[in-house]
Amino acid sequence: MTPAVAKAVFVLLAVGWYVIRFPYARRSRRTPVAKSARDARETVLLLASLSGLGIVPFIYVATGFPSFAEYPLHAVQGWLGVLAALAALVVFRLSHRALGRNWSISLELREGHKLVTDGIYRHIRHPMYTGFWLWAAAQMLLLPNWFAGLAGLAGFGALFFGRVAQEERLMLETFGGEYRAYMARTFRLIPGLY
Ligand code: SAH
Repeated sequence: MTPAVAKAVFVLLAVGWYVIRFPYARRSRRTPVAKSARDARETVLLLASLSGLGIVPFIYVATGFPSFAEYPLHAVQGWLGVLAALAALVVFRLSHRALGRNWSISLELREGHKLVTDGIYRHIRHPMYTGFWLWAAAQMLLLPNWFAGLAGLAGFGALFFGRVAQEERLMLETFGGEYRAYMARTFRLIPGLY
């Protein structure tokens, strides 16, 4: 596995993610938002995530910047990155399929919002975030650059830890006991662990 191939795999991950998301994003956009908990802090966290998972690694792939942070890519590391990228896409696909038009990029509830507890949501409460952690792991493994490789973990980490408790509070306010029971029988990201 050469660095050029690893970088190409990272680009394919982004393309695959977009292909998966696009039809769901279009459909959910057509469903009006009924309640929003989006604020300035949310916007800053979304920007941090977009920079870390998108802008920084794509500048690196396109230009090699910042070259001082470069290190040699180990073949095993590259292949583990391919596995993480594939896992990210599978988890994304399953999450979108289950969440359907209840999806939103931010903390929002749509008209007729349904609590989803089946499909991949039967096993974990935040599979889409599991997918983004896998993306960040793939980025770390596929991009042999200390800055661009780790930017995803930092950027998405900020969004995840800044948002997840607030999202669960919003779901509790909206779905009450049903969500409380769902929380009691599921973990956030990895079944049986966290
Ligand atoms: N945290 C989830 C969803 C991310 S999309 C995941 O990682 O898979 C964010 C939106 O999904 C939020 O606005 C919230 O309203 C909605 N949401 C989160 N969990 C949900 C669930 N179990 N059922 C329906 N909507 C949910």
